[in-house]
Amino acid sequence: MPRMNVESFNLDHRTVAAPYVRMADVKELPGGDVLTKYDVRFTQPNVAHLEMPVVHSLEHSMAEASRDLADDVVDISPMGCQTGFYVLRSSAPDVPGTIELVAGTLAKVLEQTEVPAANEVQCGWGASHTLEGAKEAAAAMLAAKDTWEQVFAEGAGPTTDPDGPAAEVGR
Ligand SMILES: [Zn+2]
Repeated sequence: MPRMNVESFNLDHRTVAAPYVRMADVKELPGGDVLTKYDVRFTQPNVAHLEMPVVHSLEHSMAEASRDLADDVVDISPMGCQTGFYVLRSSAPDVPGTIELVAGTLAKVLEQTEVPAANEVQCGWGASHTLEGAKEAAAAMLAAKDTWEQVFAEGAGPTTDPDGPAAEVGR
């Protein structure tokens, strides 16, 4: 396949073993600051996905909770395929540190008694939320934390792009 602009379009999604936390991209900004993007995958691509209200409530919950734990969280965005989230941090690549950040964030989600900002004032679809669904998905993700660092299935190639950043991480 030809190399595409978007890093994840150069990732062979058949080769990954979710759940995992993967360093997806690094950008050095003109001022010298570094942005690192992580692929935080909850479910196995093309096999399972999170329902939209679960994705939405996790988005709200992780957005709030992660910022209690780290100053360098720029953004946590759901993937349109509903299998995970992108976490963007204004710091150099640190997969073990990001694993601890995600784990700490999900542990806080498990303690929630309501989804933050799940109302018509603070959200664009305040009715589309599920506290229980978000907690179930957080618990399932956390239960597999020991394997988050293993991104690719045994014997699988890391990427369709041998020179991409994903390749370096996979090796
Ligand atoms: Zn919302």
